[in-house]
Amino acid sequence: MSVLITEDLKKYYGNEPNIVKALDGVDLEIQEGEFVAVVGTSGSGKSTLLHMLGGLDTPTSGKVIVGGKDISTMGDEQLTIFRRRNVGFVFQNYNLVPILNVYENIVLPIELDGNTVDEDFVENIIETLGLLEKKNNLPNNLSGGQQQRVAIARALATKPSIILADEPTGNLDSKTSQDVLGVLKMTSTKFHQTMVMITHNEQIAQLADRVIRIEDGRIVSVEGR
Ligand code: ADP
Ligand code: ADP
Repeated sequence: MSVLITEDLKKYYGNEPNIVKALDGVDLEIQEGEFVAVVGTSGSGKSTLLHMLGGLDTPTSGKVIVGGKDISTMGDEQLTIFRRRNVGFVFQNYNLVPILNVYENIVLPIELDGNTVDEDFVENIIETLGLLEKKNNLPNNLSGGQQQRVAIARALATKPSIILADEPTGNLDSKTSQDVLGVLKMTSTKFHQTMVMITHNEQIAQLADRVIRIEDGRIVSVEGR
């Protein structure tokens, strides 16, 4: 089943004659459980694409369909609800709350949404990500790689339709980057979790199931299954 579809997706910034075509007709179809990397140089449109997929911004034209819902015509309020229910975000800088411990960070989005924490599932995630011994630690007692594992756990815990990762290894050395990619891939498989990662790092991108390359706002190649 396709979890995510874009149809002739365009995002233009500014007005003629200074219009920037950040996305210029992107057609994508991503299956449930797939781990996809979007790779491209700086300015190619990666962040813009991620923002469209996650409902952080609205397209100029075209469609974004997530879990069967067309989000391209939603207003701000609807998009906020959509994001909270359907999207898990993983960022370069982890975005953990410094005064909350690992466990509290992981369940925070569930609690903010007023939902009951599925303790068995959260425990399973914590164990799978190798964070059992760090459960009560504050983020600044953890390494960068461990902090990113917590951010991944937090994204998984809400059982989102998609996890969107924006340069998740951007602040990590190359060995830790490989580890974190291994964790993303392993959890995607284990929890059948759809993930889309953007990166400018070719080696990191090659670890995904499918690599989509964009240049000047267009898909120029797709590698993998
Ligand atoms: P990447 O993430 O691959 O570096 P971006 O999606 O950030 O690429 O940017 C794609 C293009 O759109 C670039 O030319 C960038 O300068 C432009 N752009 C991005 N955001 C804005 C904005 N808010 N206003 C104007 N131009 C923008
Ligand atoms: P970039 O990759 O373009 O440097 P970041 O990855 O730091 O940017 O963040 C992308 C954008 O998404 C930022 O404008 C940030 O404010 C916004 N953002 C991040 N998380 C959320 C969220 N959960 N809800 C709404 N907006 C968010």
